[in-house]
Amino acid sequence: MRIFDPHIHMTSRTTDDYERMAAAGVRAVVEPAFWLGQPRTSAASFTDYFDSLIGWEPFRAGQFGVRHFATIALNPKEANDPRCRPVLDLLPRYLDKDAVVAVGEIGYDSMTPEEDEAFAAQLALAVAYELPALVHTPHRDKARGCERTLAVVAESGIDAGRVVVDHLNEVTVKLVRDSGCWLGFSIYPDTKMTPQRMVELLRAYGTERMLVNSAADWGRSDPLLTRATGEAMLLAGFSDDDVDKVLWRNPVEFYGQSGRLDLSDLDVAAAVDPQTGNSILRGGS
Ligand SMILES: [Zn+2]
Repeated sequence: MRIFDPHIHMTSRTTDDYERMAAAGVRAVVEPAFWLGQPRTSAASFTDYFDSLIGWEPFRAGQFGVRHFATIALNPKEANDPRCRPVLDLLPRYLDKDAVVAVGEIGYDSMTPEEDEAFAAQLALAVAYELPALVHTPHRDKARGCERTLAVVAESGIDAGRVVVDHLNEVTVKLVRDSGCWLGFSIYPDTKMTPQRMVELLRAYGTERMLVNSAADWGRSDPLLTRATGEAMLLAGFSDDDVDKVLWRNPVEFYGQSGRLDLSDLDVAAAVDPQTGNSILRGGS
């Protein structure tokens, strides 16, 4: 099983995680810029963070055979802090970098006017830099947050096919599906989605434009839940090809729209085991 985790915060994970992810079939990840967990005291704090997302972290991932890409943005939560907002002027410098495959995470946390402004400004950057956009949706008041998110996306003029709306669940899936945007689902140990609920959504809505991520960070989360979802799909009767589409080809197609998704030299050719008919990783587990 080859796996591309399209949303994971590796900065907050250990090398043990990289090791276990690689053993489970994770060959590529996208790490979106997000909040610090504690308040940042100045925009300069972002410079070091963004530099590590495009320098140190890809190096660390590479030691385990994992290809690492980033998305860069002022995240919704920190958009409310006047000390952080000047980072908007620093973004263009990073959106030019090869390791950056989208603008994100942007969107809403508490749906404040400050978030409105940062969200619209950064969708405009995505259009200007011809990058896809990764959009976070609020964990509270999900349906209303999602409706407003889609309205702002539509107003920005960005092509819906270049936007993923993330952290969806049974309440928001249909709204986003009808919008033409990509659908992101974060599989968590005890909140958001579980592998079983994800399988039900894939049954109901199919595999087109569906992205599954672990969104693992420094909270209680699990970077192997992408793999667990693939296994739950197989148990439920989905084919190896369905699993490969959701866990590999879909994220490759979505972030490939950046023109920067270099997966050359990665050992990820899908092959078929002549004895079992199962797809296997060339030289892998
Ligand atoms: Zn995130």
